[in-house]
Amino acid sequence: MTNKQELFFDVIILGAGPAGFSAAIYAARGNLNTALLDINMFGGQPSNYLEIENYPGFPLIEGFELMEKFEEHADKFNINKFPMINIQKINLTNEIKEIETDEILFKSKTVIIATGAQAKKLGIPGEDIFKSRGVSYCAVCDGAFYKDKITAVIGGGNSAIEEAIYLTKFAKKVYIIHRRDELRADKIIQQRAFSNDKIEFILSAVPLEIQGTNTVEKLIIKDLKTQQNQELKVDGVFPYIGFSPNVDSFNGQIKQNPQGFIETDIYMQTSVSGVYAAGDVRDTPLRQVITAAADGAVAANSAVKYIETLSPVKV
Ligand code: NAP
Repeated sequence: MTNKQELFFDVIILGAGPAGFSAAIYAARGNLNTALLDINMFGGQPSNYLEIENYPGFPLIEGFELMEKFEEHADKFNINKFPMINIQKINLTNEIKEIETDEILFKSKTVIIATGAQAKKLGIPGEDIFKSRGVSYCAVCDGAFYKDKITAVIGGGNSAIEEAIYLTKFAKKVYIIHRRDELRADKIIQQRAFSNDKIEFILSAVPLEIQGTNTVEKLIIKDLKTQQNQELKVDGVFPYIGFSPNVDSFNGQIKQNPQGFIETDIYMQTSVSGVYAAGDVRDTPLRQVITAAADGAVAANSAVKYIETLSPVKV
């Protein structure tokens, strides 16, 4: 028994990024009593993206602005919004799912997990010590601190290359250090970086250690072809080596792949009845705003159909 306020919904959507907003719109339009929860402010990862130029209908838009539009759109429907919640416990395995926060016990017939993913760490000495003192996972947030300084971006994907280009607005030099001799980023983004004379590529190399006194001063890297170490004088290190799924609160209750991403079928159905996953948190070949939004729509539609099959539930 708990003295907490109890709220009951048809669907609870965990995570208010592109997948969550889209799921909320589709669920509310499907006449489900819908709650949208997030442990942070609404908007998800794209709120930190600089510019998005591959979301159809918006040739070029800031990530933050696109997410504002998603929220404005969701606000047209009757959606119960709970930002900045602190989750204590989640139980997804019973017919009625429960999510307990500091103040509320949420109960729901279905749950859509759209909790996204977060930046992976390099796991090298100095990374934790210098976090926020020269190590940053968000060029948009911290780039302006590096005016006329030297920075290093680690990784060869879209995030790394785009953020490196962004950093050239402030920094006098940006190294891109990538472990292979070929980048993973889209060709169009690669070309922009190649033609930016503030960017120097160091390929087939990995970071070994971040050093400094109060703030970052050096990055030690290893050339994978010669096996030689090299010392780079840098003021900032920006790791962009991909993401891991935000699944801590329900780890073990749902089938996940070896990297922790949630496994679903094409209906976004997870291994647990009445529980769906959408967007970056799930095992999917492409993690984009468009694919997350599409997942959210499919998941909400599945939740609507599932609820139609349920006999009236006594709570
Ligand atoms: P990503 O595509 O997974 O790229 C991660 C990069 O980090 C890869 O180049 C990888 O090397 C490297 N890497 C991984 N582990 C490493 C380690 N331990 N040490 C050194 N390097 C390591 O991740 P992302 O760039 O963050 O992008 C994630 C998703 O978001 C992608 O689907 C991407 O297309 C999308 N995205 C899209 C946009 C856009 O369209 N505007 C912007 C940002 C992100 P390898 O290449 O050798 O594997």
